[in-house]
Amino acid sequence: MKIVVCIKQVPATGADKRYADDLRLDRAGVEAIINPLDEYAIEQALRLVDDGSVESVTYLSMGPEQASEALRRALAMGGDDAVLVTDPALAGADEWGTAKVLAAALDKLAPDVALMGMASDDARGSLVPGAVAAMRNLPLLSYGAELNVADGAARVRRLSATGYDWLSAPLPLVATVTDQVGEPRYASLKGIMAAKRKPMQTWSLSDIGLSADDLHGAALTRVTDTRAPEEKPPTERIENLPAAEAATKIADWLTTRKLI
Ligand SMILES: Cc1cc2nc3c(=O)[nH]c(=O)nc-3n(C[C@H](O)[C@H](O)[C@H](O)COP(=O)(O)OP(=O)(O)OC[C@H]3O[C@@H](n4cnc5c(N)ncnc54)[C@H](O)[C@@H]3O)c2cc1C
Repeated sequence: MKIVVCIKQVPATGADKRYADDLRLDRAGVEAIINPLDEYAIEQALRLVDDGSVESVTYLSMGPEQASEALRRALAMGGDDAVLVTDPALAGADEWGTAKVLAAALDKLAPDVALMGMASDDARGSLVPGAVAAMRNLPLLSYGAELNVADGAARVRRLSATGYDWLSAPLPLVATVTDQVGEPRYASLKGIMAAKRKPMQTWSLSDIGLSADDLHGAALTRVTDTRAPEEKPPTERIENLPAAEAATKIADWLTTRKLI
């Protein structure tokens, strides 16, 4: 049983996210991390290795050369090997372009389960898993709080309005898990050392049977403008006043703004 975990390298959560002149996220000089929600997908895959239901874990990422750092960090947590798909033609790839590339790479890796996080930390599109499943004509089990595989099928336990649902589908498939699968393990020093020796391949578009033309410039969408959010006026607090005085102040505040 083989799992491929798709991980995205993103700017560190607190990092100052700026756009470059070409209106793409300026990743130069910005600390980059494994997409936080992908760490839960890694943890879920490694738990399936721990319970013996999965033999091998491969990590797959599409991104610039530096994304190999994120793959090494994942290998330090566990797993067997990694693949980075990188190509100048992929700069500025959108959801569609990313899904097309991941689908082609997954066709080549042919896992039983392609496991992903529920969203990226920078774009938060949550579109790639569904798009990959559709492009590969495979089932999608999404937002799993737990994933297990047995007898040629996989099952996820998913939070619902009334409790949990169990969903299952035959392998191969695409699945996403949430942060409910359990705390991601820390990479041990032994794990970090071992990760340096674990195999990592670098594939270009032609290695997965795609050309730049197939990708229409890697994006069907185009960022045409970016604006910083408007500054909000400072919050006004009305507290420690006698009720009547507080009520008057609130009424004046609402009246001034024509809210009453
Ligand atoms: C601020 C911002 C806004 C954007 N807005 C749009 C937009 O409106 N429309 C659009 O088409 N594109 C948009 N993009 C581009 C988009 O982020 C990228 O195409 C991205 O690679 C895929 O989308 P996502 O980050 O939303 O991934 P999601 O769909 O949120 O990712 C879900 C899961 O897919 C897997 N995954 C995603 N990307 C990769 C990867 N590169 N390598 C391996 N696994 C991956 C991970 O497991 C991840 O948890 C935007 C980018 C940014 C930074």
